[in-house]
Amino acid sequence: MENGAPTAKPVVVAIDGPSGTGKSSTSRAVAAHLGLSYLDTGAQYRAITWWMVANGIDLTDPTAIAAVAGKPEIVSGTDPSAPAISVDGVDVAAPIRTQEVTSKVSAVSAVPEVRTRITELQRTIAAGAGGIVVEGRDIGTTVLPDADLKIFLTASPEARAARRSGELKGADVNATREALIRRDAADSSRKTSPLAKAGDAVEVDTTELTLAQVIECVVTLVEEKRAGK
Ligand code: C5P
Repeated sequence: MENGAPTAKPVVVAIDGPSGTGKSSTSRAVAAHLGLSYLDTGAQYRAITWWMVANGIDLTDPTAIAAVAGKPEIVSGTDPSAPAISVDGVDVAAPIRTQEVTSKVSAVSAVPEVRTRITELQRTIAAGAGGIVVEGRDIGTTVLPDADLKIFLTASPEARAARRSGELKGADVNATREALIRRDAADSSRKTSPLAKAGDAVEVDTTELTLAQVIECVVTLVEEKRAGK
């Protein structure tokens, strides 16, 4: 990939936070701007969930989920201009975004065997990239605790629900808000690597910011880090 700053050392950026904070849009844009690779770890948890639904696994039974956690082969692309994800060779970029997968992903991602498997995959991808932006829930705390820069994005529940309903074209804001709060509560309260801000992460509250402002803020933080400030 063409690198925007060819002389700079490869940088690893972890971007965490709850849903609807602009994590994906920000992470992709920052990676593209700085010539870095990009990894959407939520898409990997969605992909394994999609496979479990497609294979009729009982998602109310963590033992059943754990037993098959190693089965699907998940391959993630790392080009920020064309994020790709496949399971056993099938392109699942669209089906992992359905309401069904969204409502079931927290149950699957809470199973330790699933997290071990996906975390390993994430570390391998990050180690092989010449600089990468990795977005998720536990990247700064667990997956890449030595990341050069850790960002934790937040926003009010109202702002997050409004953004998500906009993305879902006309979805009811109140229902979206309730679903977001439920998913964040499940992701934050699970035992194994919950959604959490790393002690050394920079928190950016995006409630009052436009997407362009958030991108600019994060790009500046990465550039400062590269410059050793
Ligand atoms: O980011 P996205 O909304 O696509 O993430 C979907 C789900 O994947 C989250 O709600 C969470 O359950 C799980 N996830 C996780 N750890 C990550 C990224 C996502 O548990 N690093």
